[in-house]
Amino acid sequence: MKFNTKTIHGGQQNDPSTGAVMPPVYQTSTFAQSSPGVHQGYEYSRAANPTRTALENALASIENGVRGLAFSSGLAATDTVLKLLKPGDEVIAMDDLYGGTYRMFTRIYQDYGIIFHFVDMNDTEKFESLINDKTKLVWVETPTNPLMKLADIEAIGKITKAKNILFAVDNTFATPYLQQPLNLGADIVMHSATKYLNGHSDVIAGALVVKDEALGEKLHFAQFATGGTLGPQDSFLVLRGIKTLHLRMQRHCENGVKVAEYLSNHPKIKTVYYPGLESHPRHEIAKKQMKGGYGGMVSFTFASGAKAEAITFLENLEVFTLAESLGGVESLANHPALMTHASIPEAKRKELGITDDMVRLSVGVEDVDDLIADIEQALSK
Ligand SMILES: *Cc1c(COP(=O)(O)O)cnc(C)c1O
Repeated sequence: MKFNTKTIHGGQQNDPSTGAVMPPVYQTSTFAQSSPGVHQGYEYSRAANPTRTALENALASIENGVRGLAFSSGLAATDTVLKLLKPGDEVIAMDDLYGGTYRMFTRIYQDYGIIFHFVDMNDTEKFESLINDKTKLVWVETPTNPLMKLADIEAIGKITKAKNILFAVDNTFATPYLQQPLNLGADIVMHSATKYLNGHSDVIAGALVVKDEALGEKLHFAQFATGGTLGPQDSFLVLRGIKTLHLRMQRHCENGVKVAEYLSNHPKIKTVYYPGLESHPRHEIAKKQMKGGYGGMVSFTFASGAKAEAITFLENLEVFTLAESLGGVESLANHPALMTHASIPEAKRKELGITDDMVRLSVGVEDVDDLIADIEQALSK
């Protein structure tokens, strides 16, 4: 099955009892047994629920894995991966991460005795120099949030495989429509399904997909034992969202590149961060590992470098909504330093280049002319 067919049919079957084309929302916590321990595969919804199973099968299919797991949030998915580690274990993570991931690593798991190193993954020498026998996990986001940094998944996968280190990729921004990390050498794909997979800004959800059954079993055990599972109603909504992932992503990519090009030519704009622009310092990596486009996330800074200008721009947008989050059908705008990335200490933000005049756009699937006109009028204020 090819990708667009998988988004609709992958791992799915019509409901065996009624023929329902979409799986019913099995809004139940428990399942009847005919004799103690004798049941039809479902006992208690923390362990498994049929609506969640349908979503998990779809997740496994679109990411080319063997096992998908659906969580109550993206961070619950990440948290479950971290639960595979023990005190003293070391993690090497990319230096530009989703703020909440960084916060979990440094303010929860560091206190549990896990050691984190943050590194620019394009500095291969530095990355390799950090690897030792305590290194158990490499965590990468590509493209990153909000700087659109890229990591070469295939190159990192070769290194982690040779050293037997788990390699996880947060694929939230690219989605499997553009990039399939398991095919490129990753062991675990993580998603904030809140974003593009669900795509309609009405659910908080997370996902993990793996290509190794035993690893899938370990992660399922950690999920079952600690409880961050996705409810049946939200599972249904994410599954419904996935059925149009390919259509939405195609339009996000078309609109994203047009917005990025418009901004690149605007005299008030200094730098545009978009993997699809030839000016992107790692455009070659994007071309190699992203297929069919470069997504809908665009960040930029102002020529003046002024925070006030970024704020005026954001206050004056009319079609774009000023809000956290991304990946929905509607266009959103965000000020990383004051909003999504406020949990990263100011000095660290400066060091990374998340400046106070930076704006991040989640370009939606509206008519692109309306989006550009909105940006134009807000920039003129
Ligand atoms: C939103 C986001 C997360 C966290 O997911 P939640 O669903 O909000 O818990 C993780 N990684 C990236 C890249 C995100 O955008």
